[in-house]
Order: sequence, then structure tokens, then C-alpha cells
Amino acid sequence: MVINFGAGPSKLPEEVLSGVQKDLLNYNGIGISVMEMSHRSKDYAVINDTAQQTVRELLNIPQEYAVLFMQGGATGIFASVPMNLMPRTGTADYFVTGIWSAKAAKEASKYGKVNMVLPKADKYEMVPDKSSWKLDPNASYVYYCDNETVNGIEFPFIPETNGVPLVADMSSNILTRNFDIRKFAIIFAGAQKNIGPPGVTLVIARRDLLGKAMPTCPLILDLAVMDKDNSLHNTSPTFSIFVMGRVFEWIKSNGGVNGMEDLSRMKSSLLYEAINESNGFYSCTVKEGFRSRTNIPFRVANGNVELEKKFVEEAKAQGMIQLAGHRLVGGLRASFYNAHTIAEAKALIAFMKEFQKKYIS
Ligand code: PLP
Repeated sequence: MVINFGAGPSKLPEEVLSGVQKDLLNYNGIGISVMEMSHRSKDYAVINDTAQQTVRELLNIPQEYAVLFMQGGATGIFASVPMNLMPRTGTADYFVTGIWSAKAAKEASKYGKVNMVLPKADKYEMVPDKSSWKLDPNASYVYYCDNETVNGIEFPFIPETNGVPLVADMSSNILTRNFDIRKFAIIFAGAQKNIGPPGVTLVIARRDLLGKAMPTCPLILDLAVMDKDNSLHNTSPTFSIFVMGRVFEWIKSNGGVNGMEDLSRMKSSLLYEAINESNGFYSCTVKEGFRSRTNIPFRVANGNVELEKKFVEEAKAQGMIQLAGHRLVGGLRASFYNAHTIAEAKALIAFMKEFQKKYIS
């Protein structure tokens, strides 16, 4: 048995994967695969609309918000955010708490003025205290990454913006906890971590803010156009959307977002406890209170690269794969997404304990 702890693309629920197998050859008895169907067919319209409806139910999304299935990945969408919202005032606020929000801020600076809300950090280990924030009341929007996948930092709160529209990248923690959608202008998430295969990005956007994109914005990145065309402006990634819809249904029948939230808290607490109880053999530099539930970066023996290499190799030999940290930060990282079970988290912890016993001098 293999357990995939990769940060994305990552593990999908086994029930979903086995359930879609027959649809690969013959969807719903119509004789062709979902992949071969026209995105303009009636059969596909059902897939598209049902997936939208299910995620609306799961996150309690009102009609004032569009639910869009887009391409270009989360990288494409964080580029589209300034193109859609910056014309309001020509400037935007960015919280930079890790690699992904830093990339998004850099991208936005092509389109207007970017104001850094936080003081520049040498290392990403936390969300700095509110007393250090510099929010611009004239900003078109405030942007943050709710969960930094590489650095393992998760916001424990929704930033207060004094009425300025709030945009969140939730690629690595969407549908792992409940939140009030009305606090947001735009939320987006690449599907390939918690909700589906790569190829589609979920975007939830407040409709009254759309329709004012820069004239140079490509039509497929213009959220108003995508909304008007019900995510079918051009050929959509039909199979990815189909599987994502099945994952939404799986979440619904497994306790909904509350069920995922409980599981996610349990899995991550077990691993952080194991790290804390290892007498320093394992360590996590992210400050308590900001530690991600879904991406847990850790080091072995204060960053002993040889031991970390051995950890990855020996874990792999036991069927636990993709535990190396991101190439930019090194170390190790375990990702616990919606599809990961408590038993899988426990298997990793048991391996960590064995490894520690073997290598502690
Ligand atoms: N934002 C976050 C938080 C991510 O984790 C990632 C990818 O890992 C991205 C953005 C970029 O996603 P994509 O590869 O879909 O462009």
C-alpha cells in the first residue's frame, strides 16, 4: 500500500477514484467517456451545474457570488485578480506570509501599485501582529494566502480590512474548514490538493465587483465573462471538473466541511504532538498558532540533510511517498488533505518514531 503525502497534485479519496473508473469508458450509459463528451452537451451541462450546486451547498455560497471553474491554475487566477479588481483605484494591499503570496504580489505589481501590508521578513514563520500592519484605505483590494503550502503557515483568523474587498488564495486549505463567505470578495483554489485533479481552479467571486476588468484582460481571465458564460466561455477541463464534482459529493457524504475540519484538526494535531514530543529530533520552525493543518514542514536533527535524505528513502521503502520539502526550502513536509485518513497520519508518526530510535545516538 502506498500513502501519498505530496503537496499537490495529491491524494484523492479512493471511493472517488474507483467510482470514476467506469465513467472513463462509458459515462452514464451514453457509450463514451466523460473526456470525449462535448462541453456544450446536455450531459455535460448536468456535470457542470451539479458540481457548482454541490460546492454552493458545502460552503453556503449565496447567489450574490459566482462559482466559476477556471483554467490557468492558481497562478493564472492570482494574475487575473489585479486585472479584474485593480482598475478600481490602481493600488492593492498584499499580505506576504510565504512563497505563494510573494509570487502573487510580484505578479500584481505588473498591473498597478502594490502596498506591502507587513514588514519585510527574513524568514516566514508566522503572521506578524496587527500592530505592524499597514493597510491602505484606498486599496482596490486586500490579498492574502490563507495557507502557505511551502512554508506551512495558516492564518488563524480572517484579516479585518475595514470594508476593502478581501481576496484569498485557499488552494491548500479550501473545504478543510468553515468560514463566512460574506467576508470575502474573491476566493480561489487550485483543485489539485483538497478537491480534485489538476487542471481546474475553483473561483468564488462577489458579482457586484465584476465587470470592470482592465481592457487588456484576456477574456478567459475576466471573471464577469466567465460568470456570464457559466464557466463555458471556451473548452472547459471537463474531466477534471467531473472528478471535482465527485469529490464535492464525497465531502458532503462524509460530514461536509465540518467533518473535514474535525479530521484535519485531528490529523495535524497528532503530527505536531509527535514533533513536540521528539526531544528536538524533529522540529517545526512555524510558530504555534500559525501552524498549517494541511502542510506540515519539519526538519530532522536541526536540518541534517543526510538524515533527511535517509528519512525520505526509508519512508518510501515503507510505501510513504513525497515527503521531501519544497525544493526552495528543503527539509521534509507532510501534507494532510481531505482524502488523508487518521490511520495514514498515524502510520507516518509510527515511522517517524522508529526512524528516531534507529538514528538517535
Ligand atoms: N497558491 C498556493 C497556495 C499553492 O500551493 C500553489 C501550488 O502549489 C499555487 C498557488 C499555484 O498553483 P498552480 O500550480 O495551480 O498554479
